[in-house]
Amino acid sequence: MDALLRLTLLIPLTLTSFFSYAIQYDISINSTKSSIIDVKVNTQSLGAFQVQPSRTAQSDFQPQLTCVTSNGKEDSIQYGEDVTCDSVNWQLSLAEVDKTGFDIAAQNDTFSPEDGWYFISEFNSLPRFHTSKSQNIEALVCPPEGHCETLPSNTQPPLFLVWGLNSITLTINENTVKFFSDNPEILSSSEQWLPVLSQQLKYLSNVFPNAPTKSWNIATFSRDRKAGSVSGAAGSNMILINLLVDGNTISERTLQLMVKIAAHESTHILGTQDMPMWAAESIAEYYAYHSINQTRLKTKTPIQDWRKFKKVFPYATTGLLEASTRVTKDGQYQYYPLFYVKGAAFWQSVNEALQSKGSNLDSLVNDMSFDKNDHLRPSFSGKIVDIIGKEKWTDLSDLFL
Ligand SMILES: [Zn+2]
Repeated sequence: MDALLRLTLLIPLTLTSFFSYAIQYDISINSTKSSIIDVKVNTQSLGAFQVQPSRTAQSDFQPQLTCVTSNGKEDSIQYGEDVTCDSVNWQLSLAEVDKTGFDIAAQNDTFSPEDGWYFISEFNSLPRFHTSKSQNIEALVCPPEGHCETLPSNTQPPLFLVWGLNSITLTINENTVKFFSDNPEILSSSEQWLPVLSQQLKYLSNVFPNAPTKSWNIATFSRDRKAGSVSGAAGSNMILINLLVDGNTISERTLQLMVKIAAHESTHILGTQDMPMWAAESIAEYYAYHSINQTRLKTKTPIQDWRKFKKVFPYATTGLLEASTRVTKDGQYQYYPLFYVKGAAFWQSVNEALQSKGSNLDSLVNDMSFDKNDHLRPSFSGKIVDIIGKEKWTDLSDLFL
């Protein structure tokens, strides 16, 4: 390509990126205290604007904001009021990681003074900027290392930032997945699990070819068995996974859980963003099982796990659609586990019925759609009925839905 042509092609691109991100959050480690993070947003070009509270998770905490004007004057800012500043600054105070490891479920801003890694969640930490007419201002968030990330809209999953962790980059179909870990053993023994995870992600990206995201990150943090819980979470750009470890040692079970959670959360990123909660969780869990069971780290099937679970779970007879109403409308989260276990068993049963007629769920899953009550639309269930027959579909609906 000649220089002139390249220049003309470049100009519109540059302008687009300039206009779509009016502001940038510059994140740095405080020069005197490594547990303090300084956030600075240059707001010179904005004129009058407002700062809106950050999204919140487990507390209502909001950072205290400082407005700096060109003469160096510093004033505190009230959320939601019009201001004009050269920059807006605030500080985040990070917790030191616990001896048992980082608890992903809590998603608190955390750092490891020993290993030098940092984790920041958008929750309670990244307030949002609006014009004085209350319109959202697009923003980039730039950690001290690595790429800048777009601040997601407030209907998308939250932004997570990590830096200071070692990583491996995977290329799967046209997707790029960066895998970070605080556990040196998991990175040095990648031949034990990387082929499995790659195979799973390749399968999932073929099932969900229209994924809105082509690159994402997986960050794994060790969590001692003694702590009693491991979790996973999907953010807008990053999946978080706890590695179940004994001391710091990893086992076959560590790897099995890790790749299962990775597949569950990757399914959310690739294909469940428009589904209601019951379907999103049951599909993600079904594909977590289904993708791992095609690899050497094979586990039980959803139906096997459901048979055991239903003997001890007090709400086992409740159908998935009723559980969906109870959870989403009445906040009765005790029904939530049904989405995972009963839900994954439902989709396995549907897939087996389809397979017995020479079809499968993979070829239909992207046609799934829902009515205003979060029930499957007849346009989708009708496709299943056409293949497996009305009687079989009624049986499965009665058993699970
Ligand atoms: Zn999930």
